[in-house]
Amino acid sequence: MNDNAAFPHLLAPLDLGFTTLANRTLMGSMHTGLEEEKGGFDKLAAFYRARAKGGVGLIVTGGISPNTRGRLAPFGCELSKFWHVNKHKKITEAVHEYPTKICLQLLHAGRYSYHPFSVSASKIKSPINPFTPKAMSVRQIKGTIKDFAHSAKLAKKAGYDGVEIMGSEGYLINQFSCVKVNKRTDEWGGSIENRMRLALEIIRAVRASAGSDFIIIFRLSMLDLVDGGNSWQDVVTMAKGVEAAGATLINTGIGWHEARVPTISTSVPRAAFTWITERMKKEVSLPLITTNRINTPEVAEKILSSGQADMVSMARPFLADENFVAKAAANKSDEINTCIGCNQACLDHVFKQQRASCLVNPTACYETELTFAKAKQSKKIAVVGAGPAGLAFSVYAAQRGHSVEIFDRGSEIGGQFNYAKQIPGKEEFYETLRYFNKQISLLNIGLNLNQEQSAEQLIAAGFDEIVLATGIVPRALDIKGIDHEKVKSYIQVLRDKEPVGKRVAIIGAGGIGFDVAEYLVEEESLTTNPEKWLETWGVDKNYQENGGLSGKENREAPSREVYLLQRKTSKVGAGLGKTTGWIHRATLQKNGVKMLAGVSYQEVNDEGIVISIDGEQQTLAVDNVIICAGQESERGLFHQLEAKGVNAHLIGGANVAAELDAKRAIRQAAELAAKI
Ligand code: FAD
Ligand code: NAP
Ligand code: SF4
Repeated sequence: MNDNAAFPHLLAPLDLGFTTLANRTLMGSMHTGLEEEKGGFDKLAAFYRARAKGGVGLIVTGGISPNTRGRLAPFGCELSKFWHVNKHKKITEAVHEYPTKICLQLLHAGRYSYHPFSVSASKIKSPINPFTPKAMSVRQIKGTIKDFAHSAKLAKKAGYDGVEIMGSEGYLINQFSCVKVNKRTDEWGGSIENRMRLALEIIRAVRASAGSDFIIIFRLSMLDLVDGGNSWQDVVTMAKGVEAAGATLINTGIGWHEARVPTISTSVPRAAFTWITERMKKEVSLPLITTNRINTPEVAEKILSSGQADMVSMARPFLADENFVAKAAANKSDEINTCIGCNQACLDHVFKQQRASCLVNPTACYETELTFAKAKQSKKIAVVGAGPAGLAFSVYAAQRGHSVEIFDRGSEIGGQFNYAKQIPGKEEFYETLRYFNKQISLLNIGLNLNQEQSAEQLIAAGFDEIVLATGIVPRALDIKGIDHEKVKSYIQVLRDKEPVGKRVAIIGAGGIGFDVAEYLVEEESLTTNPEKWLETWGVDKNYQENGGLSGKENREAPSREVYLLQRKTSKVGAGLGKTTGWIHRATLQKNGVKMLAGVSYQEVNDEGIVISIDGEQQTLAVDNVIICAGQESERGLFHQLEAKGVNAHLIGGANVAAELDAKRAIRQAAELAAKI
């Protein structure tokens, strides 16, 4: 144990025999997109250096393939040639400036490889990939084992302290270990002993090539969460095999990428899956790492102090705040910029082949490009609007030494985040507001709530710069009967808590339309009730069926009958987040929400709302119609200032309302603060 009063278990060192980890935090593997970018390794080195400086005990890099067929994408990163070693040295040398260890993740994607040369145990296509893999020949299997061993040797040469062998999430090793997609009849298929042969041979070969003083983490799929996944008995047999084969640590893998159970999104309760690692602790004696939706030191400490695991893996929380561990160690966990699990700037980017970053921390993966040097001259700056854009600008500008005053006409900071945080499953948004409140007081930023400033007042106060982050106003619609008393805006529902009837039509199926629908059908948020949440998504903690799925979802009846409408003819919800949209669609479908596309709005009247689809008219008998039809910039103050010859800066929704989200609002604010 460490003598830190608040987090003694989290900060305790972990003795691995031949080496010791500084504490129990592991920064989990994240592909950033920099791996494939020109000059990306210099940026990656800066990215990892910042996390090492911030005190993380052990880092695992993004997945790197041991050979060409195993690459995730055609130009995916691979470590197989001697000339690859030098660029990796940049990373290890940067990390080793601090007492942090770093392992390279070896990931062969198998049938998840997004290219036509993919291979797997059997010729079975994944539902999330258009490419059908070829079944590997025995020669290819043996070659792949050698490739893993060779990569590990190169990783050691590059200065890595070890490797993590990716055996979960539905990648190649998991494809072999699971009977669902391993239909082989040779010694690599059939019994669990045969199916886990690839994993164990790889561990043995890596140990032989990299030596005894090399960390080998095996990421084991403890819960496949797919029909036909492995049984608990198979998982335990494999864990014991992994231990005997020479691994140093076992990391927990939860759910294949194609699983239809959310595993890391914001609506997943914190630490919802740590029970599976706890269960495994009774079976093996290797130190176990647990994972998924652990985003505060308090949650991590509780897991470790209750003996559920020996180490805690957090990935996205280190994007959100590189100083997570240092702040915890200084008893300043209330200063941590908490990951809200939105996936918007990290996973959604990676799945679109864009560089990852973080919605709440736009400097993540931009450590050398978005920097906040001390200002040559401290300016007096007024910021109007305390939504995400105004708050982020104020914090970064104050960090640079500017004197900042924020004004907001509301009674609390946060702007539209105050509506977002009320949506069931979006409770993490409170954390961002807690973070900003803390920063405002630490940086002595002047906070003036309940104050609507006029252009005259701002000019008279003699500010050097005026930044307008006044956000948006909801779009007004021109539909017959729009003034009917049953019509409400989402603001009347979420902010003013106006009563809503049992039958509702929502006009507009963007992010806000979906959120409002969830708010109306799910009266109780399951995010704070992990047991009920698991039941709702059909996860069986007793592991009676293979894959950990119960086969039935215990959901409460929805509290309302809701229609979600859009004019576009495309699939409703098609524009939602790449990695989270399916969760929102599934949640609404399971709650009986009727999603209609290609709608033309005719009239709102006493009966409900009259619409037509493909020229066919119908009346939806509803008590309320809620408008979630997008927004327009709030620029009244800008124009008043402009008329008086003052050129203010516009950021966030006040700048461009179309397709606005907090990710754009915060990044734009940071970019302005970096140069003002
Ligand atoms: P706003 O948040 O609108 O803030 C503007 C602020 O300016 C307000 O506080 C307002 O009171 C103040 N103001 C305006 N005029 C004046 C004036 N004249 N004087 C003083 N103060 C003034 N985005 C995401 O990225 N992810 C999500 O999951 C997400 N979920 C959402 C869910 C809901 C229900 C809603 C409504 C929005 C959601 N958003 C989400 C959108 C996100 O909240 C906005 O993109 C973001 O808040 C825009 O930030 P902003 O600072 O530009 O404006
Ligand atoms: P939005 O995503 O642009 O959606 C607006 C909706 O209104 C669309 O479905 C649009 O569909 C409809 N619409 C637009 N003009 C209309 C008109 N004149 N008449 C009738 N319908 C109209 O905007 P939003 O839902 O207001 O969300 C604002 C921003 O917040 C979004 O950019 C989003 O990224 C962000 N947000 C994100 C999340 C998240 O989970 N990531 C959640 C909430 C909000 P049709 O034009 O087809 O009718
Ligand atoms: Fe977390 Fe969202 Fe940042 Fe990703 S983008 S690290 S999910 S806060």
